[in-house]
Amino acid sequence: MKEKKKSDLAILLGYAGNFKGLTYLGLFLSGIAMVLGMLPYICIWLVAKDLIEVAPHWTEAENISRYGWMALGFAIAGILVYFAALMCTHVAAFRTASNIRKQGMQHLMKTPLGFFDSNASGLLRNRLDGAAAETETLLAHNLADIVGSATMFIAMVVLMFVFDWRMGAACLVAAVVSVGALFSMMGGKNAKLMQEYQGAQDYMSKAGTEYVRGIPVVKVFQQTVYSFKTFKEAIEKYSDKAQNYAVDVCKFPQALNLTATEGAFVFMIPVAVFIAPRALANGDFASFVTNFAFYAVFSAIVSTALARIMFAASGMMLASTALCRINKVMEAPTLEVTDHPKTPADNSIEFRDVSFTYDGADVAAIDHVSFRVEPGQTVALVGPSGGGKTTAASLIPRFWDVTEGSVLVGGVDVRECDPHELMDRIAFVFQNNRLFKASILDNVRAARPNATREEVQKALSAAQCDDIIAKLPQGMDTIIGTEGTYLSGGEQQRVALARAILKDAPIVVLDEATAFADPENEALIQKAFATLTKGRTVIMIAHRLSTVVGADRIIVLDDGHVVEAGTHKELTATDGMYARMWTDYNQAVQWRIATGEV
Ligand code: ADP
Ligand code: MG
Repeated sequence: MKEKKKSDLAILLGYAGNFKGLTYLGLFLSGIAMVLGMLPYICIWLVAKDLIEVAPHWTEAENISRYGWMALGFAIAGILVYFAALMCTHVAAFRTASNIRKQGMQHLMKTPLGFFDSNASGLLRNRLDGAAAETETLLAHNLADIVGSATMFIAMVVLMFVFDWRMGAACLVAAVVSVGALFSMMGGKNAKLMQEYQGAQDYMSKAGTEYVRGIPVVKVFQQTVYSFKTFKEAIEKYSDKAQNYAVDVCKFPQALNLTATEGAFVFMIPVAVFIAPRALANGDFASFVTNFAFYAVFSAIVSTALARIMFAASGMMLASTALCRINKVMEAPTLEVTDHPKTPADNSIEFRDVSFTYDGADVAAIDHVSFRVEPGQTVALVGPSGGGKTTAASLIPRFWDVTEGSVLVGGVDVRECDPHELMDRIAFVFQNNRLFKASILDNVRAARPNATREEVQKALSAAQCDDIIAKLPQGMDTIIGTEGTYLSGGEQQRVALARAILKDAPIVVLDEATAFADPENEALIQKAFATLTKGRTVIMIAHRLSTVVGADRIIVLDDGHVVEAGTHKELTATDGMYARMWTDYNQAVQWRIATGEV
């Protein structure tokens, strides 16, 4: 356990980079501040000593005011140095947090795009941001306090020998008792209970998120909160664990700890009672009284030091779990980038015996699939839902990398292309294309940032977006998502198509979202398709078979296998899956016409 903590700290300090030295300086200053903070107590001891030596002729004690000023000076110096120490650790901590954020983001830029399908980017950002912020407490405060308290302990041991070791030992007994009590709460078999408690807490917050996400469903189906059994159970489990931990584990040690720290003074009484008679007999009663006065005052700072260590320990734990989350982001798989990129010879696409299995899935989503698209050809992927169409298409721009076989663009394996060049060559319109909360102009221009306004205008026209632009208050400068300017699904699709048209890439990968398109949109989207696909290599996933009739080749995917391939004519002539789909499709269309629904 200790070993791991150490390495956690090393990892965190690793993120500090050049500011590591500043952290060390801060810690050093914190130690100095702690020693300075102890010096006034010694001044008090000196004052007491002076007074007792001259008792009862008080006026003879000449050095008292000097000691008083010294005490004040040390106290102020201690505060100033502590302030400087925290300044250093804070600057370093903020830099570290910002480095963690930067490195995390840089790492995420290298992950395959598909990674963001299962890990929402907003969530990742939140997680990284939160975790980075949580390391701040440890680096800025807790470490400085740990070093300060440790210094203080060493100083205490030294002082113990300087003044009266017996009373010093009594002070330390209090410290040892409370530290022992603290460790008994966290160590041994209790560590497991503590982990369970923290696990229950994590689980509850996850279930809570699920619950909030599910509120629309609850409302629509008129359910009650109790239908969210998991959330309720998570709360109950947490409450159980928290009570268990508090009552079974913490009750006694915590009581002991508080008693020892707050009542450190009490430990000195028996010692004093034991020493007093002998001191009286030896005639050095005066020095006994001064020492007793010193330790009586001094024992008060023992409890503050211990309280600090306790907070520091919890900061350590917090940072540890935060680091865990940071590591998860940093361990996300990255795309391998070749050192010797090859340039594709043309714009053909070839799947060569490709298999792909999603992480954690048992069966392959794509299973030994081979086909070829010549430059300028249009190939349609059709088949039942879950057949693997979207997966196949996403292998081309390397949203994922194949598990087996290879995907080639212009005769070059996509893994051997320069990623930027590959992206330049391919325009894709995917089912879940999102528009940014920005103007339509900027949304479209994302495809080619140096495009002029006129070029964007032309792309929008080609994508049949003129009617959308016309009805928006500020034309294409209207910010999407602001009050009253929401676009329908079909409209969003057309804007996404404009984006792809503006990109003017020689290869187009289209995953059509039929669910959104109303009949009016449908006709417009078809027109936009026609513009986008003209003269390019196209892989399209179409749900309305009318779209694919003209394709050069149709590939039917089912369960990750190619079950049929050919032109519309060839496939309808057989009695295969496509022919059946075509019959069903026509019946559906006729039914719609017959019922007057379009
Ligand atoms: P289609 O586009 O033909 O409907 P998909 O390519 O989306 O099919 O899905 C193929 C298979 O892969 C399905 O069994 C689906 O459940 C699975 N799948 C799709 N996306 C993921 C993902 N991100 N993680 C795990 N499995 C997935
Ligand atoms: Mg799909």
